[in-house]
Amino acid sequence: MQWSYPQNPSKRTRWIRSLREAGERPDASSLPELLLEHEIGPTGRVCHSATVFLINRECPWTCVMCDLWKNTSPGSMPAGHATEQLGKALERLDRETSTRLHQIKIYNSGSFFDSGAIRPAEYKAIARLLSRFERVIVECHPRLINERVTMFKGLLPCELEVAMGLEIACDRTLGLMNKRFTLADYTQASKFLHEADIRQRAFIMVQPPFVTPENARNLCLQSVQYAFQSGASCISLIPTRAQNTAMHVLQSEGLFSKPSIRCLEQCFRDALELKQGRVFADLWDLEHFNQCKSCSEKRSIRLSRMNDLQVVLPEITCNNCLCLR
Ligand code: SF4
Ligand SMILES: [Zn+2]
Repeated sequence: MQWSYPQNPSKRTRWIRSLREAGERPDASSLPELLLEHEIGPTGRVCHSATVFLINRECPWTCVMCDLWKNTSPGSMPAGHATEQLGKALERLDRETSTRLHQIKIYNSGSFFDSGAIRPAEYKAIARLLSRFERVIVECHPRLINERVTMFKGLLPCELEVAMGLEIACDRTLGLMNKRFTLADYTQASKFLHEADIRQRAFIMVQPPFVTPENARNLCLQSVQYAFQSGASCISLIPTRAQNTAMHVLQSEGLFSKPSIRCLEQCFRDALELKQGRVFADLWDLEHFNQCKSCSEKRSIRLSRMNDLQVVLPEITCNNCLCLR
């Protein structure tokens, strides 16, 4: 079969962008979203965590599976915008929660260290707002890990952790996904963070596009091993979702199929059994991966408890489960 997916990176970028759905996007006046959750921290203690989703300019890359651009503004943000948004988010947290928060994740649908997204001139004011936390987690593309990271770390009154989307430890698939970095870039970024004594976490996709269901488990395990060996102390496993038209086209051409709940369970199990660091399964919209009425809730509870306990729990068996046959 002839793929419509272009083989050349710049044609690929144009193709992915040409398939973007029309729709309203936020602007500078939109308020950031907030999420409260908990996770096991580096010492094994439960950490209460807030995630702030800053409204920002669009990420300069165009990965095929990405839909984060929908939460970004097509234009640049005014100077001081990130600080102002963070300040408003923290005020809202003060009003709406009495839980003592240990850590904050500041996600901007792109890279925190993209100087066109969050200006380095704002680092000082942002850092000043964060004195109440023990740890700050930001996300960044591996190719934007540089001295701006150490500059920000030097201003922070608490620990810095940087999350990078490794996605998969396979150069060919990274290329096809239009990630625009190689494993060598990732390793170099990890080394930089390690030498600067900055904690790392990695996002890894379970059964990304261009990976068959038969290879998904092995490739996920290899990717988890690669991330741990590169210095990650924490890994988030993200079951791949088709959230944009480009992914739906890949799906229709047999280049992507969504992972089964079973695949996520196996990948999570494999990663936890390595015992090399914390591993979390992303459980957002989990019912999308398992529609079985008999077991989906039990599976979800099991995975959530595995996130909290960091151990493999007994598997759920289900006679009605179509996805397991
Ligand atoms: S680097 Fe991240 S935010 Fe940017 S397009 Fe890729 S997945 Fe989306
Ligand atoms: Zn079932």
